[in-house]
Amino acid sequence: MATELSAKIMDGRALAQRVLAGAAGKVARIKEASGVVPGLATVLVGSDPASVTYTRMKRKRCEEAGMRPVRVELPATTSTEELVGIIADLGRDASIHGILVQHPVPQPIDKRAAFEAIPVEKDVDGVTSASLGRTILGMPAFGSCTPAGIMRLLREYHVPLDGAYAVVVGRSPILGRPMASMLINAHATVTLCHSRTRDLAALVRGADIIIAAVGKPEFIEADWVKQGAVVVDAGYNPGNVGDVDFAGAAERASLITPVPGGVGPMTIATLIDQTADAAAQQLRVSL
Ligand code: NAP
Repeated sequence: MATELSAKIMDGRALAQRVLAGAAGKVARIKEASGVVPGLATVLVGSDPASVTYTRMKRKRCEEAGMRPVRVELPATTSTEELVGIIADLGRDASIHGILVQHPVPQPIDKRAAFEAIPVEKDVDGVTSASLGRTILGMPAFGSCTPAGIMRLLREYHVPLDGAYAVVVGRSPILGRPMASMLINAHATVTLCHSRTRDLAALVRGADIIIAAVGKPEFIEADWVKQGAVVVDAGYNPGNVGDVDFAGAAERASLITPVPGGVGPMTIATLIDQTADAAAQQLRVSL
């Protein structure tokens, strides 16, 4: 007998469309009030094919929202000092309201130094230590776009967070760590797992909410998923494969994100929306 999908799909594509429409509305109000077209600089170092595609998609969405994409492309041989100088110049440019440095950046560039060169008010991707610190403390901040997009998805689908037990697998500064902080701030109880975690499967099995942010195809196995759990797959591996065994997990979960069409579109929509908010703040336009 064929097994049936019992989980409801969390449709990131549909929600992203609504977020982008909201951002376009904000941009129209900013233009009307200030006469300024908000600008988003996308900084790409090298020519990693996935990064080329991501920055192209981000510029396209930026344009569709009525903003001005500013394309900065640099050779893989760029030094940390040169990159920091270019980002600092963008930081001083009043026509640029948001700066995105596409990661990963090629070795041996010091990615952290590049991120830290972004002024916090233009850090629309939420990558600076200042933004992360503010996120942890629950202060106003541009959140890292992937976890911030996931929080929107969880709210859209009315996932109860207060008192829920969430297990986040992955502790990167752009994904797992801010994700854990955002969930804690929403009053979830959070376990943050990583490559040294002992007995990961047992921890995941207890979770009401599972966030997979590992970067390993189908790493989260179906029988780690508690019946009725909410499963969010942030992973994006070659061949459009997530970090969760989707087919198996979908038989046990109550809600699950697909790959593609779940977390990915929400990441870009959050970036665009945060850029509109950054422009409004810098131009003193109340939305
Ligand atoms: P990352 O920096 O490589 O971090 C991966 C994390 O997974 C690390 O914390 C690592 O632990 C942990 N990990 C690795 N092997 C593990 C294991 N066997 N057991 C438990 N934890 C393990 O990756 P990332 O940038 O956070 O990205 C994670 C995934 O999300 C990737 O698939 C990436 O493509 C995807 N992503 C998607 C979007 C989107 O918009 N959809 C955006 C960003 C990233 P250690 O810290 O101990 O090494």
